[in-house]
Amino acid sequence: MTCVFCKIIKREVQSDIVYENDYVVVFKDINPQAPIHLLVVPKKHIDSIASEGSEGTASELIKVAKKIAQNEHIPGYKLLFCVGKEGGQTVNHLHLHLLAGERMRKKEVLERM
Ligand code: AMP
Ligand code: ZN
Repeated sequence: MTCVFCKIIKREVQSDIVYENDYVVVFKDINPQAPIHLLVVPKKHIDSIASEGSEGTASELIKVAKKIAQNEHIPGYKLLFCVGKEGGQTVNHLHLHLLAGERMRKKEVLERM
């Protein structure tokens, strides 16, 4: 098993986990592109949004991201799925980026990713 996010979920790789339930784990991005940069990750390994049947899991990730933003009183944020190498995906385990804490234009966010 070489997937770094699976290793984080199994606590084989250290990370800063901020939320966890039976299906999802949320941890801080190691290379933050905004003052708040969290990764919302399903515990089950799915390669990406492009994977067959990933929609249900994706909606769970969105639900968790919304809950964290509400609980942390984050007034505005961006949610981002990168899909495939050409889409800037570097870790092939489905994840939702939650970016906040700075007024960023879309172009700036995309240039950083
Ligand atoms: P993406 O490039 O969209 O696939 O997003 C992968 C993200 O995972 C990048 O923003 C990386 O900085 C982040 N990342 C990679 N390895 C780790 C790690 N060990 N702990 C936390 N974040 C990581
Ligand atoms: Zn994985």
